[in-house]
Amino acid sequence: MISIFRRAKKAIHDHRLRRQVPSVSVGTDFAWPAGAAGAVSLTYDDGIANHFQHVAPALSAAGLRGTFYAHVMSEDFRNNTDSWRAVTARGHELGNHTVFHPCRANPGITRDFDLRGYTEKRWCAEIELANWILGQVDNQTERTFGNTCWDNWLGPDENRICLEQLAARYFPAARGERNDLPVNPRSFNRYNLGTRSADGEKFSTLQDAIESAVSRGEWLIFTMHGVGQGTNSLFIADAEHRALIDWLAANRQRIWTAPVVEVSKYLLNSI
Ligand SMILES: [Zn+2]
Repeated sequence: MISIFRRAKKAIHDHRLRRQVPSVSVGTDFAWPAGAAGAVSLTYDDGIANHFQHVAPALSAAGLRGTFYAHVMSEDFRNNTDSWRAVTARGHELGNHTVFHPCRANPGITRDFDLRGYTEKRWCAEIELANWILGQVDNQTERTFGNTCWDNWLGPDENRICLEQLAARYFPAARGERNDLPVNPRSFNRYNLGTRSADGEKFSTLQDAIESAVSRGEWLIFTMHGVGQGTNSLFIADAEHRALIDWLAANRQRIWTAPVVEVSKYLLNSI
């Protein structure tokens, strides 16, 4: 009898984990801070040395702050924790990008780190460990999650668990999947905000995407890896990145550029 009850309870629990979280909306009196028309977040993945050597200093010099999603097994992360601490002391976010960077059905991933073979408990333990390690570096207790390979599901295809329900245990928000769309404050999923890749893009294309988002009062989250040739197989050219941050700095009154944790908390305080 007890085991039947337990099985039924587990089935309900599992069923919930297979669903995405519902979208929410800000209130009708919502306004971006200080009269801004919309928002942008610049996110940089994989904890590579280029980020603390060049990217974070360039952002700081322009008066901007970004989000750095570092998986803590990255050698550039583990060997340079003092440099990463200095980055976070300048107000940049150090986001969680797991420990081992598991992905789903990615050609570059081994079976050991394929999210199709992960369980709920294993993923959660990895997230908790990554959060603890990141906390040792930046002393923060709140950060967002940057989905590895933009994947949003774990477990086998026929019995998938949505990461959104799990991320809700540890984070105020998660970047979620690559949908190349901005976040609409009137209807957004805080654990699958959505992001647009800026790797390999020209400044003029990114500028058009920002203007389009801002004209509708939306928030565009870019994902990048390296900045400049030779920094990573995925990268944005240095000159295009330079032009982007100079333009965002010049337009700071109109476009609010801030880390994902800061913008998401602003939205969540407005729902
Ligand atoms: Zn990554």
